[in-house]
Amino acid sequence: MTTPNPIAMTDLSGRVAIVTGGSRGQGEAEARLLARAGAAVLIADVLDAEGAALAEALVADGYDARFAHLDVASPESWTAAIDLAQAWKGRLDVLVNNAGIINRTSTNDTTLDGWNRLLAINLTGTFLGIQAAAPLMRATGGGSIVNIASNSAFSGHYDPAYTASKWGVRGLTRTAAMEYVTWGIRVNSVCPGLIVTGLNANAPHLQPMIGLTPMARSGSPDEVAQLVLFLASDASSFITGEDFTIDGGFTAGAAYRRVAVESGLLPPGNSG
Ligand code: NAP
Repeated sequence: MTTPNPIAMTDLSGRVAIVTGGSRGQGEAEARLLARAGAAVLIADVLDAEGAALAEALVADGYDARFAHLDVASPESWTAAIDLAQAWKGRLDVLVNNAGIINRTSTNDTTLDGWNRLLAINLTGTFLGIQAAAPLMRATGGGSIVNIASNSAFSGHYDPAYTASKWGVRGLTRTAAMEYVTWGIRVNSVCPGLIVTGLNANAPHLQPMIGLTPMARSGSPDEVAQLVLFLASDASSFITGEDFTIDGGFTAGAAYRRVAVESGLLPPGNSG
């Protein structure tokens, strides 16, 4: 028996991955990195032109990718996407439930329609994705599901629907991990802090967030993609049901750090 090369454990050659919301932002970075790691990547999004162009660009660069229109809130759309993966490569190894939206409204200002739409995409979309993908993963030897939550899933936040959806994704992740362990499927969540993308590029909270983040900067989609690749691959083969924050130290204790700096107990450093 040959021992796997630990340096090559993020190699996804021969694997098939679906990345939802893969046309832009973090999903685009995840799709690009998984393709570079050797996976055939199905970029699945409601943004058709951008997703198709990304798939074309990846193929032109020698990688394996294609685009599928997917509305994660629709069970029929999920059935079509999984059927496409099956017809395309006959297998499924990785699902990244990345698609998400934000309302950025207070509880008083959140409409029922706004609440329902956000929950349908961020939380129900993740549930539907897990439910749709797991049987094909099981049939082809197991796999890894990576759910993109948020570091707002550890505290209160300024958008009630978003916060509830991301806390829900963490709960769903643990439940699915316990259920699908017997199918050879691992399920984990990634919980990013501030990553500047189209979701928040013009939002008013960027500088205050950066000011409070111990590393004093936002993260990049490529940094999140590295964590997704780790969780998607055999490099994380003994990890399931976990959440991984990737937020420059924000969740680890940014508020206490600010208190310590303002009290003179710690030097200000970058973010004081
Ligand atoms: P983004 O740039 O807005 O990308 C999200 C993608 O998902 C877009 O292409 C979007 O299309 C697509 N999408 C929206 N609704 C969809 C649906 N029903 N079905 C399929 N695709 C849909 O956002 P991002 O910043 O990369 O966020 C990716 C994930 O990370 C989200 O789950 C988000 O909540 C999470 N996150 C982001 C941050 C951050 O700071 N950026 C922090 C923590 C967590 P449209 O453009 O048409 O909406």
